[in-house]
Parts: sequence; structure tokens; C-alpha cells
Amino acid sequence: MALIVKKFGGSSVKDAEHVMNVAGIIVDEYKKGNDVIVVVSAQGDTTDDLIEKAVEINPSTPLKREMDMLLTAGEQISISLLAMAVDKLGCPVISLLGWQAGFSTDSHHGKARIKKINTERMKAELAKGNIIIVAGFQGLNKYDDLTTLGRGGSDTSAVAIAAAMSADRCQIYTDVDGVYTADPRKVKGAVKMDEVQYDEMLEMATLGAQVLNNRSVEMAKKYNVELEVLSSLERKPGTIVKEHVKMEKTLIRGVAKDTSVTTISVVGLKDQPGVAFKLFNKLAQYKVNVDIILQSVGRHGTKDITFTVSHEQQDDAIKAMESMKGVFEYQDLKVNNGLSKISIVGAGMESNPGVASKMFEALYDADINIHMISTSETKISVLINTDLADKAVQAVHDAFIG
Ligand code: ADP
Ligand code: ASP
Ligand code: MG
Repeated sequence: MALIVKKFGGSSVKDAEHVMNVAGIIVDEYKKGNDVIVVVSAQGDTTDDLIEKAVEINPSTPLKREMDMLLTAGEQISISLLAMAVDKLGCPVISLLGWQAGFSTDSHHGKARIKKINTERMKAELAKGNIIIVAGFQGLNKYDDLTTLGRGGSDTSAVAIAAAMSADRCQIYTDVDGVYTADPRKVKGAVKMDEVQYDEMLEMATLGAQVLNNRSVEMAKKYNVELEVLSSLERKPGTIVKEHVKMEKTLIRGVAKDTSVTTISVVGLKDQPGVAFKLFNKLAQYKVNVDIILQSVGRHGTKDITFTVSHEQQDDAIKAMESMKGVFEYQDLKVNNGLSKISIVGAGMESNPGVASKMFEALYDADINIHMISTSETKISVLINTDLADKAVQAVHDAFIG
């Protein structure tokens, strides 16, 4: 007998028909004699719809604790419905909210980190012969307040359970049949991968390939949990994410797009030591994750610092910068949230000098202007206007993968 963790995303449980389909997959696994723990997301666009409701009340600064109270409701709906569906198919089942399944997190509302999973309840339910359906994306902090793990966080819930329960398999079911070299819904010629390494997957996920949440990949690597990404609609093998892969290493593994990019330019800072430190220290205090940073020299002993953050963190970043007034002076704050980041991912970029120029040529041929560039050993990213993002991904994918 094996312990199998299966996670189903929102699109896989979007309506009653899909819920029954997923229940069928779960029951088949259980009837093989395996223990089954299921993690499920909110149905379809429920989370987006709930966010919309909050925005109607307060467009800019809804209370973060109350946002978590609101958003966790989405998963509560899907676990109960899925449990009813499994019951209808004649198998013993219980649904558990995150806290009932033992998820303790820190108190960072909206982007909490899992601190510990108390597995007692899950073990007891398995011992009773129950299939367990756990609400993804949520936990409880030390004040007994509900928290959420950040968008796409159900993937992380699943990997965390697989690690804590030493599961034999962790399967992430979604609406595509695996991980591709680029989003298969958007990019013509995207190629499915049989296997992909943790590090490459982590880079792809971090750079916008939403098929897996990046924290889930980070955790899978840390606890050596092998993942399979597969379709909930077609029963066929998906993509395995693990440490060592058989496939020959290609230079460019994939192309990713992140449309959630805001650039913030702090214009007219004094050109003196300590300015960058104070600025980024303040952003850290506001728990803002900064991605690309660019410093340019201005006139009359001034400099400008431009950095990028996700749309989600734009307001926090602006608040952090406004709180700097009085600590040090700047002339202007410019905010642009109409940009996207296009990245190519692959090992060995550093030792292949032609890669960057090939990427820039592909963009030039497509008449796409680059605003910012950032490189590392395993990726090259460019910022471009969002209205050209899909065209850019296709052009770059055509150039490297065909
Ligand atoms: P779920 O609701 O199951 O969590 P998501 O919408 O979060 O599903 O993730 C699946 C989607 O990720 C796919 O529908 C696909 O459009 C998108 N995607 C982006 N990049 C990739 C990629 N490289 N490979 C596969 N899917 C990708
Ligand atoms: N329902 C949450 C979201 O939409 C979590 C998830 O789907 O993983 O982000
Ligand atoms: Mg997802």
C-alpha cells in the first residue's frame, strides 16, 4: 500500500461535472488499495471573484487579515463539494480545512509561509480508512487567525503534505498535460517535457510559468519530493519534476512570461553612500520582494534608482517609498505597471555568449523595444510593454526552440 498525494487546481473542479470527474480519479486510486490525501483549490475563478468583491468595498487597502478570512472561503466550498462527490461514489471520505489538517504558518497575511504541519489528524483519518480532502492555500497563525500562502499556493500545500507524511507520490493535476517549454495555451510549437530538474522548474515558475507555484518547487527540492504534473481530463503520463533527469541538457529549456511587473523609479536621489542601502532596507521592512534593480546617474550629483516588484506588492512598495520622505530626499516617484518580463531559462548561459544577442535579435526582428535587461547563469530576462508580451514570447520561443 502506498500513500498518494493528489492536488487538483481550480480549473479541474470548476463545476459539478468536473468535481465528479476528479472524484472518479480519487476513488480509482483508493480502490487500488492506496491511502489518498487530496489537496484542492477553490473552484474555477472563485478566488479572483472574491478579490473583486473586496475591491468593490476598498479598492486599495483592504485589511490583509480580512482578505485571508475571505479568500480561505473559496477552498472551503471546494473541499466540501468534492467530499460529497467521493461519498456519492461510495468511498469513505472527510474534508479538512488547512488548520484541521495541521497547517501552522507565520503571520504574513496573503503570503504566509508554512512553519509546521501537525500530521496527527491526517494520520488518524487515514487509519480509519478515510480519503482526506484538504483545503489548499491556507493555514493558521500563532494567534489562531486564518492565513493564505499566496496565489497558486495550493501546490505548496500539496508538496508540504507529501513531505510531512513521507508520501510515495505527489501528483499535481491541472488543465494541461504537463510542463511545456512555454505556455502551451499561448505559444505555438511549445514542447512537452517528460522530465525537468527542480532548479530549471524553479526558475521557470519564478519567472512566470504558472503551471507550478515556485514555492512548491522550492519545497519539493528541499525535501526531495518528486512531482508529477498531469492532466485531470486526459489519463496519460505527465511531466516528472526531480533532481536528476535522463534527458540531455539543452541550452535553453523554456521561455516564461510574467505580466505582473511594476517598475518604480525613484528619481533625483543624492549620489552619495548609503542611499541604496536605506532604500532597499525600507523595502525589506515592508516585506517587498524586489526583482530587477537599475541605477543610473542623473545630473547635478543625483542618481535614479529603478526597481521592479510584482503588481501585488506595488502598493506596499509605494508606501515604503513615501515613508522615506524626511529620511532622504528624492524629486519624483514614477510608477509603471504596464510592463512584462520575458525570460529564457537554461543551464550554461554564461558560457555561451551568443545567447543574449540571439534573444535580442528575435525581439528586434519582431519590432519589440526592450526597457530593462537582467541576466544570471541560468536566465536572461527583458522587460517589454505588456501589450507585446505574447508576441515576444512567440518570437523568442521560435528563435530557440522552434
Ligand atoms: P491550476 O488551476 O490547476 O492550479 P494554473 O492555471 O495555476 O492551474 O496552471 C496551469 C496553467 O499554466 C496552464 O493552463 C497553462 O496555460 C499555464 N502555463 C504557463 N506556462 C506553462 C508551461 N511552461 N507549461 C505548462 N503550462 C503552463
Ligand atoms: N485558490 C488560490 C488561487 O487562486 C490557490 C490556488 O489556486 O492554488 O490562487
Ligand atoms: Mg495553480
